[in-house]
Amino acid sequence: MGDTEVVISGGGPAGCAVAAALSDLGWSVLLLDAGVDRHKQLAGELLHPPGVRDLRALGFGDVVDGWAAHPVKGFAVRFHAPERTLVLPYGRGVTGLSLEHAALTLPLLESVSRRRGVTLHTRARVTAVEHNCERGVRLRYSHAGTEHTVHARLLVAADGRASPVRRMLGIAEHHQRLSTMLGVTVDSACLTHPEHGHQFVGGAVHALAYTIQPGVARVMVDLPLGSTAQTLKEQPELLLALPSRLREAVLQALEQRPAVRMASNDDWLAETVWMGSAVLVGDAAACCHPLTASGMASCFHDARALQESLDRYPDHVARALEHYAHARRPAQRTRVALASALYSAFARQDEGMHALRMGLLHYWEHSPGGARASMALLSSEEPRMRVMAREYLRVVAHAFAAMLSSNGTGGSLRSAAPLLRSAGPPLRGTMASAVEQMGSWLHRRVRRPVYTLARAGWASPRRAFASNR
Ligand SMILES: Cc1cc2nc3c(=O)[nH]c(=O)nc-3n(C[C@H](O)[C@H](O)[C@H](O)COP(=O)(O)OP(=O)(O)OC[C@H]3O[C@@H](n4cnc5c(N)ncnc54)[C@H](O)[C@@H]3O)c2cc1C
Repeated sequence: MGDTEVVISGGGPAGCAVAAALSDLGWSVLLLDAGVDRHKQLAGELLHPPGVRDLRALGFGDVVDGWAAHPVKGFAVRFHAPERTLVLPYGRGVTGLSLEHAALTLPLLESVSRRRGVTLHTRARVTAVEHNCERGVRLRYSHAGTEHTVHARLLVAADGRASPVRRMLGIAEHHQRLSTMLGVTVDSACLTHPEHGHQFVGGAVHALAYTIQPGVARVMVDLPLGSTAQTLKEQPELLLALPSRLREAVLQALEQRPAVRMASNDDWLAETVWMGSAVLVGDAAACCHPLTASGMASCFHDARALQESLDRYPDHVARALEHYAHARRPAQRTRVALASALYSAFARQDEGMHALRMGLLHYWEHSPGGARASMALLSSEEPRMRVMAREYLRVVAHAFAAMLSSNGTGGSLRSAAPLLRSAGPPLRGTMASAVEQMGSWLHRRVRRPVYTLARAGWASPRRAFASNR
């Protein structure tokens, strides 16, 4: 039986980032990757500025500088009817990057394998978690045709959204398949805003596009579950929200079958992100619809949160994991709620969501600050749920303003009912989460100092806490 301080299952963006983070802390790391073929995968290719920053902070600056990446300045959102394009910029002076998925991820794996204390086994798969408690884990993995057993202080599940290790640990999950993503590459000259990620909203289907290498753009079309390339060939009118040149390029690309990539879009949320001495990071912890392109930034954020937590409690893994769970929760909840709310607003065809889309258009057109605030939420730069709740309220208010200006009062009142029916539940959910987030912030603010004082013999936590109520 071998021993190491940490085993990481999965050498994707999350696994690489965690391996770097823990090797920085001086931990010995065994990184096991089953070896998905990233050249065939349809997955992350646009990295928002917080993700770029976190990668640099994790010591991947040389990798980032070595990428032949395309700079991204924000999103260009093209509405279908009325036909209008609005730019949502990142904050001043910051840029994101976009590049082909394999070109982005493989150099991270290569680079981390050279870090001090990291042993990488490719084509290695965790097959069983035999024991997991607060004192450590024992697990089995297969590599080069042989089964191995290893004992570690910590097991990190970075094995993607369908995470086999999450299941081995018995952690409950919520899973919903949302849609099918079809991806092709086209000439990047077809894009109207080459320095922005494109969102095509309000048509029969939602689509995304961005440059991934010089002269080449990825286009991803969000289709109903079970669709194939044939679906789009038979119903080219689904692409009417795309400018005609881009639409033609996508239809042509469908003829080159090997160039078509497919993926499913899923919500996949773990009930808890740690158990005993095991912890979930990246998609294994939470995965949502990719329209905000925030998945990889979230992986790198998780890695830094775990690093900070283990640095704070180096001798107490369970306490560190609890701290990690708290630290990542606000940003994750906002990201997942935002992806869900935006996917409905961008893609759903009902009257209420049409009104909400008009609210978004009106808001971004009339408020440059609003456009920036929305982009900050989209890029995970802004993690606070109360900011999302505030922005959602503003969009609903602008939806009413848009109705008033187009219908007059009588028509507006009639159109208000579907808007309230569609926007009400996500708005209530967001507000409730915002209140909960503020409550837990207050709780930490009040409880932590009280316990610190109590430990120092200054106060009884219960008495002091009661007097604060
Ligand atoms: C269509 C689509 C488009 C997307 N676009 C974007 C985007 O533009 N920007 C963005 O930020 N995000 C995007 N994402 C999300 C992004 O791809 C993911 O968030 C990111 O890849 C998650 O990284 P990960 O390391 O958690 O998991 P993965 O990338 O899934 O890696 C998991 C790894 O675990 C390995 N593994 C699996 N099982 C085992 C096992 N038992 N033992 C050992 N290893 C194992 C696999 O081989 C794999 O290498 C997109 C996703 C999709 C589906």
